[in-house]
Amino acid sequence: MKIICIGRNYTEHAKELNNAVPEKPIFFMKPDTAIVRNNDPVYYPEHTKDLHYEAEIVIKICKKGKHINTMFASNYFNEIGIGIDFTARDLQAECKKRGLPWEISKGFDQSAPISEFIDKSNFDIVNGIKFSLSINGTKKQNGNTKDMIFSINHIIAYVSKFVTLKEGDLIFTGTPAGVGPTEINDHFVASIEGKTMLDFVIK
Ligand code: MG
Repeated sequence: MKIICIGRNYTEHAKELNNAVPEKPIFFMKPDTAIVRNNDPVYYPEHTKDLHYEAEIVIKICKKGKHINTMFASNYFNEIGIGIDFTARDLQAECKKRGLPWEISKGFDQSAPISEFIDKSNFDIVNGIKFSLSINGTKKQNGNTKDMIFSINHIIAYVSKFVTLKEGDLIFTGTPAGVGPTEINDHFVASIEGKTMLDFVIK
């Protein structure tokens, strides 16, 4: 399986990192070794001094598809969860400055803790899911999928022009404003519609 991540999909987040609001979706990938499950701890990586959190709604692909039409894109995912796109912001700044790929800053091991997944039929509307992240009991990020620049269906259609999507693939759909640094011992709680989905610590 593969993990596809959408960048700059919420206007307020693009602005907070001084990035232009994109005209087309931006995506990059993480390897499967990035995944952390079952609320296992995440170990602060040695290669960064500025590990940032980005809470994101994650969708799970349920059917193989290429060149998927936006109209039919909703048939290609059936489950929704939440995850953290951990980013070594110092390395990413260096990559951006030098025009290099982002993998060392985004694709390292344990950079993608994910929750359990919920069947999408539990939501009235996929384009109106509220989610949030608290660290040590303080709310850090509040998002709603209605604020995405590119909707989930648009993302599936766009990505599948370039990359065949397969059952079990995950798509991180972008983070709202409020990203920031984390430290050892930080306690993360991420929720969807007020329900705790992800609960882990940084070690
Ligand atoms: Mg992200």
